[in-house]
Amino acid sequence: MVLLVTKGIVKQFGAFRALDGVDVEIEKGRVTLIIGPNGSGKTTLVNVITGVYKPEAGRVFYTKPDGKMIDITGWPPHKIFEIGIVRTFQIPQIFQKLTVLENLLAVARGQRGESVISALLKNWVKEEEELARRAFGILKAVRLIDKWDVPAYLLSAGEMKLLELARALMAGANLIILDEPIAGVPVDQAHEVFKIVRDINKQQNVTFLVIEHRIDIAFKYVDYVYAMASGKVIAKGLPEEVANDPKVKEVYIGG
Ligand code: ADP
Repeated sequence: MVLLVTKGIVKQFGAFRALDGVDVEIEKGRVTLIIGPNGSGKTTLVNVITGVYKPEAGRVFYTKPDGKMIDITGWPPHKIFEIGIVRTFQIPQIFQKLTVLENLLAVARGQRGESVISALLKNWVKEEEELARRAFGILKAVRLIDKWDVPAYLLSAGEMKLLELARALMAGANLIILDEPIAGVPVDQAHEVFKIVRDINKQQNVTFLVIEHRIDIAFKYVDYVYAMASGKVIAKGLPEEVANDPKVKEVYIGG
């Protein structure tokens, strides 16, 4: 089942075409990766999907949990967030002085009144208990459970990325968009971040769209890859197919 589709997306900045007819399909339950050199349009595409930019042409469709496909083109970012499409940096910044657990509870409290859970629960205490229970479950999944009472500023670069991921889960995401999740993260931690993304994808059936430059690491953990260059998709397929595509090789290593 396709969770999100873009059809013929065109986005211009003045006369410059940053996206020139982009079609992508994100299958539910998959980890989809978008690669491409700097300036190829990856971030602009994510900005169109998440409502930051309105495209000049093209549509974005999303399948709701009830199976109905809706046109979300041009919706404001908060509405796109509410239907479960969460880009990690859309969530308010990590609070450095708060503990890991408090950072998760802050996400949920920020949403109070909107979540299904708060609608179902009868009173505040029960709601707080439920939130804490959920938060601990998520911390277990992202392997930060041992750090639950550690202030965020003491986390390593990799752990900080995992906390961002935990916060997206806490926000009730169906589709999590990770923007360079291992940028600045040492190699061993980078593998750990992707392993955890994979586990969460499998165990919790969360769909991921990942933008990443370090394709040597990312390719091992994803199901499907789109390669972009100059505002267009130049290749798509399984990681090994895209890695061996002559057009992709040309863009990355100059032929
Ligand atoms: P990527 O994420 O692949 O590095 P971007 O989507 O950030 O690429 O950028 C694609 C192109 O669009 C680049 O040439 C960039 O300079 C241009 N661009 C992006 N955002 C803007 C903007 N707000 N105004 C003008 N040009 C932009």
